[in-house]
Amino acid sequence: MTNHDFSFETKLLHNQHKFDPTTGGVSVPIQHASTFHQTDIDTFGKYDYSRSGNPTREALEDIIAELEDGTRGFAFSSGMAAISTAFLLLSAGDHIVISEDVYGGTFRMVTSVLTRFNIEHTFVDMTDLESVKAAVQPNTRAIYIETPSNPLLKVTDIKAVCDIAKKVGALSFVDNTFLTPALQKPLNLGADVVLHSATKFLSGHSDVVAGLAVVKDPELAERLGSLQNSFGAVLGVQDAWLVMRGLKTLSVRMEHSQKGAEKIADYLKQQPLVKKVYYPGLTDHPQHAIQEGQALGAGAVLSFELESEEIFRSFVNTVELPVFAVSLGAVESILSYPAKMSHAAMPADEREKRGITNSLLRLSVGLENPDDLIKDFDAALIKSAKAHAIPVK
Ligand SMILES: *Cc1c(COP(=O)(O)O)cnc(C)c1O
Repeated sequence: MTNHDFSFETKLLHNQHKFDPTTGGVSVPIQHASTFHQTDIDTFGKYDYSRSGNPTREALEDIIAELEDGTRGFAFSSGMAAISTAFLLLSAGDHIVISEDVYGGTFRMVTSVLTRFNIEHTFVDMTDLESVKAAVQPNTRAIYIETPSNPLLKVTDIKAVCDIAKKVGALSFVDNTFLTPALQKPLNLGADVVLHSATKFLSGHSDVVAGLAVVKDPELAERLGSLQNSFGAVLGVQDAWLVMRGLKTLSVRMEHSQKGAEKIADYLKQQPLVKKVYYPGLTDHPQHAIQEGQALGAGAVLSFELESEEIFRSFVNTVELPVFAVSLGAVESILSYPAKMSHAAMPADEREKRGITNSLLRLSVGLENPDDLIKDFDAALIKSAKAHAIPVK
């Protein structure tokens, strides 16, 4: 059963796994079995061993494939497991063109692991199509996009970059963690592989680590399925169930959090102690038009740079509502310090070069009333200004 005529919000609830066909239960059963009894010597049943296939994990894989408008989904033990397994589509001697402000873990995988297997890379500013083209080599086999990027929220024109990849016979990978299929569907823009840290918005409650990959092309699906089974970094069944539970509320969570992010970005822009606000929803964001053209919204993550490191320190020590932590995409707002958290794996000079300074904060807006977050930030900014004898208003 496919429900391609229904809207995204409806499909989150009414998909092929809305109830268990054996009992009618309205929640996907958790199948703990690692192995499955076979009734025939010559032909095995659909499942034999849970690394290769498990009905609970498969339900999540079916659901994410449908939500991303793909044909097959794959669930992994983390976002990095999904990303690393997708990189196994490449071979020694291949070359990757990759977003320069990519997630820190992806940066580490590409620079310190893949290089040992003779897979080379070139970092580029993906917003500059000429530099993407210039970075392509005869052995380029993949172009890796993260949009909006982390933590500077630069927006890549997905279709334009996927077209470049197609022309040179390279695969295009898109990390869709920040926007999710609720707002952006890279496969429909020409991407070959969509990747997710399902730890973030998809599950949404800071209580599970998981990764997903989705493809449209059946041959690519075969190859990725074989790699998932070979590498073996599959998602456990309890965690698969938690991601499915979270997915049901994805639309309402994204909508509320995005509205909050818009309001907070506008507020921060007016604050004299805030040097810069990075959010693709702002009309003066350099790629605002591209964002509007390829996604239904700008998402719920924004970054901002405070006037100085002193202000930054007293602000972080004073704010009360957001948790100060790594990660994003949860019911509670999360304030992170990219320089020391998500991008700690990146050498300091590389970070500074990319604009990830020591006064930069990333905010993932949760489900609080945004006016309370603004009240909290306002109090922290006033206190920080007073502490450093800076006039605010
Ligand atoms: C968190 C994150 C990852 C890594 O996912 P894990 O689930 O932590 O392994 C990859 N990409 C982006 C954009 C992320 O935010």
